[in-house]
Amino acid sequence: MISQFQESLHLTARTFQSEMLDTTFEDVLEHIDSGIMLFDEEGVLSFVNKQMYGMLDLPRSSLVGCTMSHLLAHVQLSRFKKKLVLRIYRETVYKGKPSYEYVDEFGRYWRVTLSSGEQLKGSYLFTVKEISDYKLIEQTAYQNDNLAMLGKLSASIAHEIRNPLTAIRGFIQLLRPHLHQLGKEEYARIILAEIDRANDIIHEFLTSSKPSVPQVGMISVSALLKEVVLLTESEALMKGCQINLHQLQNDLIISVDVKQVKQVVLNMIKNAMEAITDRIDSDMGRIEIGARREGAEVRIFISDNGKGMDILTLDRLFSPFFTTKESGTGLGLSVSDRIIKNHGGCISVSSRLNEGTQFVISLPLIQ
Ligand code: ADP
Ligand code: MG
Repeated sequence: MISQFQESLHLTARTFQSEMLDTTFEDVLEHIDSGIMLFDEEGVLSFVNKQMYGMLDLPRSSLVGCTMSHLLAHVQLSRFKKKLVLRIYRETVYKGKPSYEYVDEFGRYWRVTLSSGEQLKGSYLFTVKEISDYKLIEQTAYQNDNLAMLGKLSASIAHEIRNPLTAIRGFIQLLRPHLHQLGKEEYARIILAEIDRANDIIHEFLTSSKPSVPQVGMISVSALLKEVVLLTESEALMKGCQINLHQLQNDLIISVDVKQVKQVVLNMIKNAMEAITDRIDSDMGRIEIGARREGAEVRIFISDNGKGMDILTLDRLFSPFFTTKESGTGLGLSVSDRIIKNHGGCISVSSRLNEGTQFVISLPLIQ
């Protein structure tokens, strides 16, 4: 009697457990992030989860018990989806491809996988999963690869253009006296100026596109700024502007490629001086340079009371070759932006037309 009771208890426990498992599995399948549809060995749809009937936009009750041809003839299935199901069926079941990718009407990427075989005892299992994120990563990787190649290619072309330019420059200089005799010295002057401009562009391009490994060294922001100001002070005075370097704390230490970061600050001071000379009213030009700690970063600011910028200029500022100057290269800021990003920092800018501009360079500090 007792053993009979024990057996029945055991049995109840087993049934209970397997029911529990069934419901858990169904729950899992119901809430998984892929659409699932199972056709049994007779080709009859025996299971479909929420994701899948949601994608087909059909009620579950009208799907279970359907065959593939019933599904294709379903009155509530949209034309677009009918075509898609047919295509998936042809590519996977007919042609035997294990998976098929498609783009839906909203531009999202999906992958359908068909599993069949012995383990499934003749059943066919379709799973559909959105793969837009993977596709985006794949495309970005592909683009980056292309960009890197393009960068290398253009750097070598730029390098090759330099040699003939040097030769042309030399010969024009030789011809200069003859052009002078003909009263056409102006031509020589223009050619030389244009060659120099082309050389400048190539020089800036090469320094920017070289996948340079930064020569990292530690330096205090104060020392770095002092050195740059020293380099530019006399030119600034000649152009009627005064550079004011604020008193800086000595504990602002950064670990950077000093030459590159100096180049960035130099570019900005040069731009500031040019903006001041371009200003219509002749106020005394002022360039303020300073730095302050902001959490784990240092913010170096360079502001000027030059001509400022309109929205259109502000929008395109960092694009390579964007310039508003007659003899500008439009590379200064795009190069600077790249350098600072390579150092894990960023550049921001604020500006008012006819009032001035402030650039802020943020860089991680050595703690
Ligand atoms: P370039 O100086 O050769 O023109 P940059 O990349 O250094 O190239 O600058 C791009 C453009 O951004 C400039 O042509 C100018 O219009 C604008 N710009 C940069 N800095 C300033 C500034 N401090 N004030 C006003 N405009 C500026
Ligand atoms: Mg510039």
